[in-house]
Amino acid sequence: MSVNDYIASHREELGIHQFAFIKTSDLIFSDGVRKLCEMNSCGQYGKTWACPPGVGTLEECKEKLLKYENLFVFTTMHPLEDSFDFEGMEAGKARHTQLCPAIVKLFREQYEDLLILSAEGCGRCQTCTYPDAPCRFPDTLYPSIESYGVEVNRLAAKAGVNYINGANTVTYFGCIAY
Ligand code: SF4
Repeated sequence: MSVNDYIASHREELGIHQFAFIKTSDLIFSDGVRKLCEMNSCGQYGKTWACPPGVGTLEECKEKLLKYENLFVFTTMHPLEDSFDFEGMEAGKARHTQLCPAIVKLFREQYEDLLILSAEGCGRCQTCTYPDAPCRFPDTLYPSIESYGVEVNRLAAKAGVNYINGANTVTYFGCIAY
């Protein structure tokens, strides 16, 4: 069974809310997204290898991503008590991160070389090695989608998946380039 068919028939089991297969040539890269990273409203700028400037320049990220022809885009959706439920948002992000390896494994079985992007930086180690030493887990380091200059709302529109999923929910995105 192809990975596309497997995902379509096991979507719920994999914890995926929506997904799409698009071409990396459909992506729109924006310097504005990187500028937003620099403003550090998420607090992740310069903290780990998964965010700017650790991921490299916008041009370097663009070049790395465009080496791959295809892009699998998926979302996970998580309930919140209300729009100020920051604990629920963190729990949703943790759940999204937990779901990623099983999805990545499906692609690894069919494609040797992948580039994986996920949501909001990396919180894997208690203390990140950035910037003094290389990442401890480079094979499972998933930089944030925004760090590659990709606007997630435009990506959602291009992929035909919801950027948000209604009141009292939080949606996280992941991408696998292959
Ligand atoms: S896996 Fe660890 S060392 Fe690598 S970016 Fe994440 S926190 Fe830093």
